[in-house]
Amino acid sequence: MQRADTTIGLVPVISVLPSAVADQIAAGEVVERPASVVKELVENSLDAGAHAVEIIVQEGGRALIRVSDDGAGMDPDDAVLSLARHGTSKIRTSADLTGVRTFGFRGEALPAICSVSRIEIETALQDGSGTRLAAAGGAPPTVTQTQRRRGTTVSVSDLFYNSPARARFLRGSRSEWRAISEVVMTLTLTRRDIRFDLSNDGRRALTAPPASSLRVRLGALWGVQYADGLLDVDDVAGPIHVSGLVERPANVGTATRRVFLSVNGRAIRDAGLVRAAEAAYRSTIPAGTRPALYLEVAVPVDSIDVNVHPAKAEIRFQDRWTVERAVERAVRRALGTFDSSASMGRSFFGGIAAASEPVEVIESDVLAPHADDSPLFRVTSASNDSVVGAVDETEARDGAAVDATHEDRSIPPLMQLRRTYIMFEHEDGVVLIDQHSAHERVLYEEFMHDIEKGSTSSQRLLLPFTLTLSAQELEAFDRDREYFDRLGFEIEPFGGNSLIVHAVPVPHPRFDAERCLRDTLASLTGDRTPSAHGRHERLVATIACKAAVKGGDLLSAAEMRALFVALRDTNLPAHDVHGRSTIVQLAWSEVDRRFGRS
Ligand code: ADP
Ligand code: MG
Repeated sequence: MQRADTTIGLVPVISVLPSAVADQIAAGEVVERPASVVKELVENSLDAGAHAVEIIVQEGGRALIRVSDDGAGMDPDDAVLSLARHGTSKIRTSADLTGVRTFGFRGEALPAICSVSRIEIETALQDGSGTRLAAAGGAPPTVTQTQRRRGTTVSVSDLFYNSPARARFLRGSRSEWRAISEVVMTLTLTRRDIRFDLSNDGRRALTAPPASSLRVRLGALWGVQYADGLLDVDDVAGPIHVSGLVERPANVGTATRRVFLSVNGRAIRDAGLVRAAEAAYRSTIPAGTRPALYLEVAVPVDSIDVNVHPAKAEIRFQDRWTVERAVERAVRRALGTFDSSASMGRSFFGGIAAASEPVEVIESDVLAPHADDSPLFRVTSASNDSVVGAVDETEARDGAAVDATHEDRSIPPLMQLRRTYIMFEHEDGVVLIDQHSAHERVLYEEFMHDIEKGSTSSQRLLLPFTLTLSAQELEAFDRDREYFDRLGFEIEPFGGNSLIVHAVPVPHPRFDAERCLRDTLASLTGDRTPSAHGRHERLVATIACKAAVKGGDLLSAAEMRALFVALRDTNLPAHDVHGRSTIVQLAWSEVDRRFGRS
């Protein structure tokens, strides 16, 4: 009986597991599936200073995984040690764990892989004579001499041939292959200076030459058009630097959603950071849709612990909150730029050329209004000089909206098209603003501010008016009554299904309070958004929509200017509150292309 061997009476006897068993246990954590073998082997190549890495797999890695590099290679002694448990060249003492820059550091991967497969390593320090090791199931390797180029090739075949329990958990070749290509894509994004080649069953799946930027690398993976449509993120908050590319709100949902996240050059999973980035999109995309994110975070090395996950797929932050806020702020800033608006045709303002220029860092809080030198709504110097008579005269007459002299220079001549769009010229192209969406964004941010800060100004009506509502409308009113109060409405029940309205906010001169209230309550009926937070956002979005000028409303020049300035001062000017664009740009480069000028 087996039990009798390990227990004497009731006292358990501890024995140290034979190293082959220990390695298999470690393998359970490090080597879940072919993709994890690929990850460990490629990371070793990168740690060895390779410039090019070639990955060949067969049957989704179940039959063969071969990773070749042109890195530093190993001498015969090191090659043997590399298969020994905790054999690593990367750290010596536990103190080295802080700020460790290599991908590997535990010396666990090769022995773990060896314990559950047949492995062959060929390696050389220089072109010429090298070492060949072959081992299976964790047995000591046979070592021979060989000829090869500088670098290392590790071939792993028959994964889990000796652990049927594990083999049973493998999926079909196609799904293992998909996991491998995910892993390799992630590695290509992490190390853009490296050339990667990947093939499966003899078919080339990926060729990624060294790339100068994240955008270029993404272009190599998923097409230049996709990559060019992404928005630059670049922001410094104290010691934290957040950079990368994120999806334009207008494009969210149009392509496969991908998320890539790295911290200090290590690709990780982190639901908290993803949530923070998504929070930045609040109010710019419909609830339930999620943006593609490619974000790189740099933090001081001693503020994280990378040694908390067997596959190093997660890290621990000393101060997670600060990092999350930095990510949210960085993404929000990117979405707050003019460049984040939708574009006609291929190119976006900025794009690749702009991406390579250093990004100016404005040290202000995310909720603070934009600094004067923000590129937002920057217009051409030509358009500042050109005078459109009508604009200035109207301005002079009812100068109600904007403080003339100072603001003027920054407002381009504006033109209303189809009583729906406002057009103007920007340094980089032609811009159209949807007057309704834009006004909605302006009012949304104003009302949100009012609700949160309670700083409403409302006007008492000389003649209070009454509203007669349906039962559902009345219910909607009761549910959100507190928010109506905070927005500056003074409303009382008036018996039956009626309300009497004594005071209303005056967000703009054309505001029709009675109609806005009616429309808002009508569209809130049946709304069961449970959380109070979600509810007040929903209410404010609805009121903003009902209170905004409509498409078809003729705007005076002064009104257009006032709207322009108000939109410019919002936090997220390029997006309305339903996931639509407020601004569409047509870049000169696209115009030139269409006219055959480029
Ligand atoms: P770790 O990467 O945690 O150090 P591994 O088991 O992955 O542990 O690798 C053990 C050691 O083998 C590494 O520390 C490194 O010295 C050596 N090694 C592994 N792969 C390569 C390679 N492709 N080129 C050069 N050296 C390698
Ligand atoms: Mg390793």
